Amino acid sequence: MTEDHAEPTASFTELYGYAPEGVWAAPGRVNLIGEYTDFNDGFVMPLALPHTARAAVARRTDGELRLHSTDVPGGVVSLRVDELAPHQGHGWAAYPAGVVWALREAGHPVTGADIQLTSTVPTGAGLSSSAALEVVTALALNDLFGLGLDRAALAVLAQRAENAFVGVPCGVMDQMASACCTEGHALHLDTRDLGRRQVPFDLAAHGLRLLVVDTRVKHALGDGAYAERRAGCEEGARLLGLRTLRELPYEELDSALDRLAGAGAGDSVVRYVRHVVGDNRRVERVIALLDAGDVRAVGPVLTAGHVSLRDDLRVSCPELDLVVEAANAAGALGARMTGGGFGGSAIVLVEEAAAEAVTGAVLDAFAGAGFGAPGVFAAVPSAGARRLV
Ligand code: ADP
Ligand code: MG
Repeated sequence: MTEDHAEPTASFTELYGYAPEGVWAAPGRVNLIGEYTDFNDGFVMPLALPHTARAAVARRTDGELRLHSTDVPGGVVSLRVDELAPHQGHGWAAYPAGVVWALREAGHPVTGADIQLTSTVPTGAGLSSSAALEVVTALALNDLFGLGLDRAALAVLAQRAENAFVGVPCGVMDQMASACCTEGHALHLDTRDLGRRQVPFDLAAHGLRLLVVDTRVKHALGDGAYAERRAGCEEGARLLGLRTLRELPYEELDSALDRLAGAGAGDSVVRYVRHVVGDNRRVERVIALLDAGDVRAVGPVLTAGHVSLRDDLRVSCPELDLVVEAANAAGALGARMTGGGFGGSAIVLVEEAAAEAVTGAVLDAFAGAGFGAPGVFAAVPSAGARRLV
């Protein structure tokens, strides 16, 4: 795809008056299964989307950091690398600036850069446009400054940028997915030690499609809810005498829930624990099914995951529930919300032959409910971050 390289190169040259040293790309992602598990040391299973953030970049040695995005109004944001500090604002530019800050904090000699960004990852749709922006910046600077960091190290620094510099308390899944996914695979990631395996996920070979339905809504409720769920999970682990919920085997879940109730845990803490331990189990189940080539059987596991997110973690919303309900009623193999919830996107596993009918059913259901039309596209498991030029 030549326009992949040409677009950011041309706008870089037009903007800064000279040619970039290279162009890099990093994808957005959807998570197949394993939600709200990554801050519990648990399992996740994302795949990279064909949608990418791309960065044309050149080094500077004078301490200047100049940032521009073709996707947001406003001009170049000029910052000094030695004056970067957390929570200064900077709007969208905080994501790439945070990466520079995190690299320098870790002792890496990033002496400035001119950066031109452009992205096809929908923003705020739960598809990790923010991680794509961070990872593409991290990979470009790693290559240009010869830092020698591996993919996982770059992802962890990108997460640190988002947590500490931007101020968003996300887990490491999004950055790891963008940095480490490979074409044709889902990534089984153990967030406890960043252990990972590329699990073949060739939908086309099985006559299947994974639809992404972007509800195009974001409910404000989501802002505090993530922190509340996180605190609830930590409380559950503490009451059980565990460091994290990952240490609780699925086989011991029922007795642990009894112990939690006995220890005075609130109803919501009990539910959060049940979701997290259950979703870790569902990741293992999906991997076993994929390894056995039984891809269709993944569908009901996705739907079970949605029910758990809806009823136990309570992070869904009417639009996401309607996608799942309408898709399954129209013959989908299974569906669930993906990402943080309260809006954003859902995924639907469907026979190729039924994709059109299921899409139509979801669109009709949205229209019937008076919701705005969602965006629907097929998730083809794509490559992780890479240098293009
Ligand atoms: P998500 O990562 O799910 O898309 P976030 O709220 O975490 O949603 O990140 C979205 C934010 O990332 C945007 O509000 C913007 O600040 C920044 N962002 C993403 N893509 C771009 C882009 N192409 N140009 C500028 N900023 C971007
Ligand atoms: Mg994000």
